[in-house]
Amino acid sequence: MQLTDYIRTIPDFPKPGISYKDITPLLINHKACEFAVSELVKGLKGQHIDKVVGIESRGFLFGMLLAQTLGIGFVPIRKPKKLPAKTLSQAYDLEYGSDTIEIHKDAIQKGERLLLHDDLLATGGTAAAACQLLEKLGGEIVQVNFIIELDFLEGRKHLPKAKVNSLIHY
Ligand code: 5GP
Repeated sequence: MQLTDYIRTIPDFPKPGISYKDITPLLINHKACEFAVSELVKGLKGQHIDKVVGIESRGFLFGMLLAQTLGIGFVPIRKPKKLPAKTLSQAYDLEYGSDTIEIHKDAIQKGERLLLHDDLLATGGTAAAACQLLEKLGGEIVQVNFIIELDFLEGRKHLPKAKVNSLIHY
């Protein structure tokens, strides 16, 4: 199966000059989703994982599927003011301005082995901020995985070395 067949590029979305990678054709095909999850699990090479952490919002889709497949729990990282209990926040820089993500403080226990997942790695700002949150809570990041990586943006430079795994590279 060729996963790239299930990703479409939408020019000038959400603004002029951006080529948006749309994963909805993948979501609509359950065999392709099953294949994507099995490939992501293969990339873990049997390493023990305690929890999967997914980044809002598209990181929730395969993050939850991965957690269910691995038989472990799922933790959401969300945009500000969405999580109801006590949170830890991390700000990060965007091309213009900044953004913040949050996690429940009690979602991770010290020493837990974590898989961080998002749909796409671009500049790496979002995933790097998520790694900071997990490390502040004492988690051990075993792997950070993505469906898609935009290689030309070199986002993996900002993430723990040798721990990044992506299924599709553009
Ligand atoms: P970064 O922080 O690495 O620059 O951006 C990654 C974040 O932006 C991810 O949470 C991802 O969902 C979103 N993102 C940026 N560009 C795209 C894109 O072309 N397609 C999709 N599906 N998500 C994108």
